[in-house]
Amino acid sequence: MISFIKKYTVPIILFSLVVGIAYLSYYNYKTQKNLLLTQLHNNSLNVASSVSSAIERFHDIKSTINLQKLVNDVSFGLEIFEFRYIEPDGTIRNSMFKDEIGKILSSESFIDATKDNRKLNTFFFEVRDFVNVMSIYYPIHLGNKLVGIIDLAVDISEYNLQNGSPDNFSILRREVDVQNLLKSMDGSITNSLAILTKININDFLHAYIKSAKNIIQISIIDEHDNVFASSDSRLVSTKIKDRDTFESNMVEIDGKLRYRTMIDSHMHENNEKMKLLLLIDATTYISHENRLFTTATVTAIIALLFALLTSRLIYFSAIEQSRTEKERLEHLVKQRTKEIELLSKIDSLTGLWNRRYLEESLETEFKRAKRYDKELSIMIIDLDHFKHVNDTYGHMAGDEVLRQVSARIKKCQRETDFIGRYGGEEIVIILPETDLHTAVKVADSVRKSIEQKPIEFEKQNISLTTSIGVNSMRKEHESYATMFSEVDEALYNAKKLGRNRVEVF
Ligand code: GH3
Ligand code: MG
Ligand code: MG
Repeated sequence: MISFIKKYTVPIILFSLVVGIAYLSYYNYKTQKNLLLTQLHNNSLNVASSVSSAIERFHDIKSTINLQKLVNDVSFGLEIFEFRYIEPDGTIRNSMFKDEIGKILSSESFIDATKDNRKLNTFFFEVRDFVNVMSIYYPIHLGNKLVGIIDLAVDISEYNLQNGSPDNFSILRREVDVQNLLKSMDGSITNSLAILTKININDFLHAYIKSAKNIIQISIIDEHDNVFASSDSRLVSTKIKDRDTFESNMVEIDGKLRYRTMIDSHMHENNEKMKLLLLIDATTYISHENRLFTTATVTAIIALLFALLTSRLIYFSAIEQSRTEKERLEHLVKQRTKEIELLSKIDSLTGLWNRRYLEESLETEFKRAKRYDKELSIMIIDLDHFKHVNDTYGHMAGDEVLRQVSARIKKCQRETDFIGRYGGEEIVIILPETDLHTAVKVADSVRKSIEQKPIEFEKQNISLTTSIGVNSMRKEHESYATMFSEVDEALYNAKKLGRNRVEVF
């Protein structure tokens, strides 16, 4: 398990990174989306409350104005003591006395009249605030529905009441006057109520959505799912279907996305609690949501690409690294091998080829010369009385002499020549494609180069000479060994004949 983790550390990290980033961007998308939806819903709540309060205000103002006007109209010529417009539940919608608007009327006579509909639209006499009045509760119907009651009281204190009942012809005349007036008012009140409760609210809603930016439709729905009013007048009085699905959702209407929500309002109409059904434009919401989604997706994709790219880079740089390392090592091995090979061929003291390589080369050159019928010469150089150098100046001096002598001989060497240390102080030169005559010349120049100038060692001058044997390949030579033994013999002769000289076999 641990080795698995170690082996796949980089992929695991990258994978976790991608998963992490993808999850975060998705989570962010979700959160933002919910936030947007909450915003949309809050927006609709605000709309609902402002719509209902606006409608209420609108309602109050309209009714107040209308009834004020009516009071003025009816009071002409009559001693109006009280004039109210009351809703069936007793709420005083309007009154000559503004203080009581909105309160519940709880007078005995009113409660009596609402309990028994026959008592409506009937004159009766009573005392209100110590004043004798003739009152009537006049019902206002919209269709067949009782929508309001006019409470009208006329001051009749100037007439004498006997036993609390009208016996005066003038009073009867008054009743007829009031009755006629109420009848004429009935029409206009019904009218204005109709306008007030329906048409005007629709107009109002229509105007409201015109001025509001995102609201597409506002409808007021009663408890029986009937559209009481709507900014879209075609919907008024229709029944809405599948109400359950109206609870805050997205719908597509005419190919456009709408947020639909049903919100409780504080409005009451005909004793029913009204709800608001709102349609809000959701296109900006959707475009925001799309943008969020795109951002989240792009983020995840970028993370993925980043991971792929990084893993690719890591993979290739690892391969490249191992490749260059391999190359470096191979190069090093080659170099070392060459060095070792070279070292195995080189004499460590003089830097000349060693005996083994010298013999190999002689064999090769001998065979080559034989095959191609070429010249081949060889010389062996031996320092004269070298033991004496060692004895006189020390072994160190002897080594140094060997080094310097080798360097001098090397200077006489041509590019194709092989020069190597054969033994203690014996140096051999192989001269391919060289005849005996030329070889002797070379040998003599070697001899002279040693003789002409003493070797310097620690401020001492050591004079030296060399004896050199020279030999060239002839037809009868069958191996290099014969040729070599002959050159050795030549060297021996050179020593014998007095040293510091070149002898040919
Ligand atoms: P000649 O050749 O003239 O007959 O006399 P020589 O004194 O040179 O005699 P020989 O060639 O027989 O002796 C070789 C001497 O070289 C023996 C040894 O002390 C010395 N010698 C051989 N190898 C080395 C070496 O690597 N370093 C030093 N310092 N001396 C060496
Ligand atoms: Mg020797
Ligand atoms: Mg010698």
